[in-house]
Amino acid sequence: MKKYELMALPYAPEALEPVISKETLSFHHGKHLAAYVNNLNNLLPGSGMEGLSLEEIVCKATGGILNNAGQILNHEMYFAQFTAPKQDNVPSGKMAEAIVRDFGSFEAFKEEFQKAGATLFGSGWVWLSADKDGKLVITQEANAANPIQKGLKPLLTFDVWEHAYYLDYQNRRPDHLAALWQIVDWKVVEGRWKK
Ligand code: MN
Repeated sequence: MKKYELMALPYAPEALEPVISKETLSFHHGKHLAAYVNNLNNLLPGSGMEGLSLEEIVCKATGGILNNAGQILNHEMYFAQFTAPKQDNVPSGKMAEAIVRDFGSFEAFKEEFQKAGATLFGSGWVWLSADKDGKLVITQEANAANPIQKGLKPLLTFDVWEHAYYLDYQNRRPDHLAALWQIVDWKVVEGRWKK
């Protein structure tokens, strides 16, 4: 049977400092995500879902298979969307225009997204997605959920599980969310949007 493999990070473990430390990134990728991959590989045999894509599993499975596959899909999108910190890091072109169209301004979008992340109770993820009509929407997803379960196209996500920020920011989740804008690779987000 095909085994899921831990994704390789597309940058060095210190590349996102000081927004995300090498220590946080190493634990997050090498321990947390690796555990989800390992769990899924242990749970899949005999489930009837061997060989399905992560997206298919997330729309079909329940229980431990759903939770571990969801966390793998979410983390693969999360880690792939970052790049070295840049001041005044903003989207451009059609992506920027769509954000202004649907949220009023980039600043208003960031504020709404951060608020959704800060007020998500417990563990989960805040997402920017496109709906069926192409409108951009922000959703809060608990635990391992992904917007594809609601028929949305996921574009950008911030992880609000404590393991994503506690070593660097302790309880200051809003400060962590505010800092993440410096490392968003908008080319990756735009690529997902156009796909
Ligand atoms: Mn995480």
